[in-house]
Amino acid sequence: MSTVSTVNGGISFWYADRGTPTPREPLPGDSTADVCIVGGGYTGLWTAYYLKKAVPFLNITVLEAKFCGYGASGRNGGWLYNGIAGRDRYAKLHGPDAAVRLQQAMNDTVDEVIRVAAEEKIDADIHRGGVLEVAYTPAQLARLKDFHSVEIAFGETDRTLHGARETSERIRVNGAVGSTWTPHGARLHPAKLVTGLADTVEALGVTIHESTPVTEIRPKHAVTPYGTVRAPYVLRCTEGFTANLKGQKRTWLPMNSSMIITEPLPASVWDTIGWEGRETLGDMAHAYLYAQRTADDRIALGGRGYPYRYGSATDNDGRTQPATIEALRELLIRLFPTTAGTPIAHAWSGVLGVPRDWCATATLDRSTGLGWAGGYVGSGVATTNLAARTLRDLIQQDSGQSGPTELTALPWVNHRVRRWEPEPLRWLGVHGMYAAYRAADRRELTSPRPGTDRIAKIADRLSGRG
Ligand SMILES: Cc1cc2nc3c(=O)[nH]c(=O)nc-3n(C[C@H](O)[C@H](O)[C@H](O)COP(=O)(O)OP(=O)(O)OC[C@H]3O[C@@H](n4cnc5c(N)ncnc54)[C@H](O)[C@@H]3O)c2cc1C
Repeated sequence: MSTVSTVNGGISFWYADRGTPTPREPLPGDSTADVCIVGGGYTGLWTAYYLKKAVPFLNITVLEAKFCGYGASGRNGGWLYNGIAGRDRYAKLHGPDAAVRLQQAMNDTVDEVIRVAAEEKIDADIHRGGVLEVAYTPAQLARLKDFHSVEIAFGETDRTLHGARETSERIRVNGAVGSTWTPHGARLHPAKLVTGLADTVEALGVTIHESTPVTEIRPKHAVTPYGTVRAPYVLRCTEGFTANLKGQKRTWLPMNSSMIITEPLPASVWDTIGWEGRETLGDMAHAYLYAQRTADDRIALGGRGYPYRYGSATDNDGRTQPATIEALRELLIRLFPTTAGTPIAHAWSGVLGVPRDWCATATLDRSTGLGWAGGYVGSGVATTNLAARTLRDLIQQDSGQSGPTELTALPWVNHRVRRWEPEPLRWLGVHGMYAAYRAADRRELTSPRPGTDRIAKIADRLSGRG
């Protein structure tokens, strides 16, 4: 397999595949709206969608710095699944019943995204094959079994546990010793979903201005170089790019995740791999991987490469480090040795938002009308939809159109957390944490013991993750 002809960056393969959209017109000058949404990713667009569906006469403006889907929503691994960052911490803070309700809402969210995509005729290559997570070391297997039991305790009673043979009947991952599978997941084409969503909300009457960076958000104002939008509600939906806004440098840390994708694999290679169910595929490593079999029979695989840029710098139009491409390629061949002769077509990276306690939230500050949702870490494809319906309910409640709902009572709503440390502590902390995870993964690969490596346990505690 070669990376010589690999395209690096260009936002993502998903746009190379479907074409980069021509940006809509920028904001022409000062204007007003009932709700102004900053950021045209899944969070902003789903929020516009549900608000407009609930109150069709609402005047909603979306302001997007580049084009809708420029961020993580157009670059991700296409795992639509029921994971939400922070559930276990929310169980500790609000009790297990609240966390079970949150998990149930996430299970339902996977169905909701699939339902709306079908209803709005958004063809995003969605295939509901569930999520398969595999273990290939004794330590990973021990974590996998714990993970499986915990998920069942949170109400996922339809989750199943498999030994090596059953795992290989689904996907033949080299050296896999076990797996857990949940039906609450689907594979999709990220850019097709986000561009379809933008077209859908525009057709509903939402105004979208692209090439319009917001420099500052303050109560009832979203300020851009071309004018200011005044609105009673201003929603920040900027996830990994939040640090670029005035006053938000240390709110959510922009963490990088990188991906590679192969050229389409021939049937002879698929015969050795299986994967007919097109489950999304992950592992139980500390620096974990995520992968999918695409509609056109490629493997897309991602993981953390270079995790964080100094000073919360965010983007390079998706370019990633050659060393990261090489590391992901080696991982792919380790998992699927028969892919060794297939070229890597494209590599890219994107940023996700990480709060100091690694807990996602959907929040509306009723005293200012400012709202935000995010901090999804690496689990936002479905969570953004739950966040959007929650922001809709919070705004409707605040404006007296409805009372509290099941969604506004979920434990992640209106959660606040302290900011990240100033530099150089942020850089040292994140790089130290991922160096520790990589070291722990290497040690677990050769260790016969089932326990999680102690370096990873220390890193979990120090990072605020454990
Ligand atoms: C490589 C990668 C792989 C991932 N894989 C998965 C996965 O398989 N499954 C999963 O569940 N999650 C995954 N995630 C996470 C998931 O993609 C995100 O959580 C989700 O897309 C977040 O959507 P968002 O709308 O909140 O943010 P984004 O999609 O990042 O959108 C934010 C938007 O705001 C715009 N913006 C930023 N600043 C401003 C400003 N000042 N003014 C105006 N506009 C602005 C940006 O241009 C961008 O379009 C992955 C993320 C990455 C990076």
